[in-house]
Amino acid sequence: MKRTTGQNRDITTHWRPATQAVRGGTWRSEQGETSEAIFLTSGYCYDDAQTVAARFAGEADGMTYSRLQNPTVQMLEERIALLEGAPAARCQASGMAAMTAALLCQLSAGDHVVAAKAAFGSCRWLTDNLLPRFGIEATAVDAYDNDQWEAAIRPNTKVFFFETPANPTMDIVDMAYVCGLAKAHGITTVVDNAFATSALQRPMDFGADIVAYSATKMMDGQGRVLAGAICGSEQFINDVLMPFQRNTGPTLSPFNAWVVLKGLETLDLRAQRQSENALTVGRFMESRVPKILHPGLASHPQHELAMKQMKACGPIFSFILDGGREQAHGLLNALQLIDISNNIGDSRSLMTHPASTTHHGVGAETREAMGVTEGMLRLNVGLEDPQDLIEDLDQALTTVGL
Ligand SMILES: *Cc1c(COP(=O)(O)O)cnc(C)c1O
Repeated sequence: MKRTTGQNRDITTHWRPATQAVRGGTWRSEQGETSEAIFLTSGYCYDDAQTVAARFAGEADGMTYSRLQNPTVQMLEERIALLEGAPAARCQASGMAAMTAALLCQLSAGDHVVAAKAAFGSCRWLTDNLLPRFGIEATAVDAYDNDQWEAAIRPNTKVFFFETPANPTMDIVDMAYVCGLAKAHGITTVVDNAFATSALQRPMDFGADIVAYSATKMMDGQGRVLAGAICGSEQFINDVLMPFQRNTGPTLSPFNAWVVLKGLETLDLRAQRQSENALTVGRFMESRVPKILHPGLASHPQHELAMKQMKACGPIFSFILDGGREQAHGLLNALQLIDISNNIGDSRSLMTHPASTTHHGVGAETREAMGVTEGMLRLNVGLEDPQDLIEDLDQALTTVGL
């Protein structure tokens, strides 16, 4: 096995993101295969006892066990790091495995976390329910409000945790301000970048320390596998994350890593086209629904900030109907092309009712506080012809009296 550009990683680091997405981190075996190979192996064999002893002692490079290293997974880790402009990355079995590892690997009892109120349901569960069980307190803030971040800092605050745009309220966090504030207080920022991906937004360019991913979403992009990733400094990945990951085992399967490698080849194209489609569909929806939350539209209160941080608006937006759950479910049930599905980032257009699906688990009170109302629907715009999507939405809106 060797890297296609030789062993020197520096050769590839100057490539632009669209090139990294296709070629970054590629290794080839002695067979010279064009597409990355899948190494479905749990372990490795060694020429002699000294070789394996040197690897276990950390004195020689090389694989020892697939919970720790696997060539296919490592190709994906290198590609994700290169795309992100991050010094290092490690993959996990799912986005939630990545979020959990990114937080737990660096937190201890007595630490304090400031987290965005508007977040993926399971991310809220981590900060509201899991961390407190281990003596780690969390304060939830309205993440679009810079002052709330500052006001929430305590002497023991160790981590800021947020996503932007946030799921599903589409709140935008001012990354340059919040990451700068964290740095000034010695706080580590962990940014969940699943919505935008590095194709549209690179949080490290705004000062983020750690970028965590659900690669299940835009990175795979075709609704096939679960995967996650954490990007950070070499010191964080090797000295802080790795002891946690090697001993708790949230490892990504080589097959799933390979699927995501194939997905990344088209990430740039998909992110751009789906953003264009989301803008076209969003403009139509704006004329028909009482309220739309779409970072690409001027009606979004943080439109300018969103467009400063992102190359394009991304495929996802939400809208709110006045008729509550009944009207929202009615619209979902009237769809003929768009699927009722709670996934995002897929090349198919998918719509969900967050209050009864992705955010059911956080409870009614938390939903209310984070702005996930009963009339809210979230749409992931895919690669279909936007005119067909508009026709489907038009007839579904008419069915529910809009
Ligand atoms: C889906 C999602 C997750 C969780 O990822 P899984 O791969 O489903 O475990 C975390 N954060 C955000 C923003 C997501 O959209």
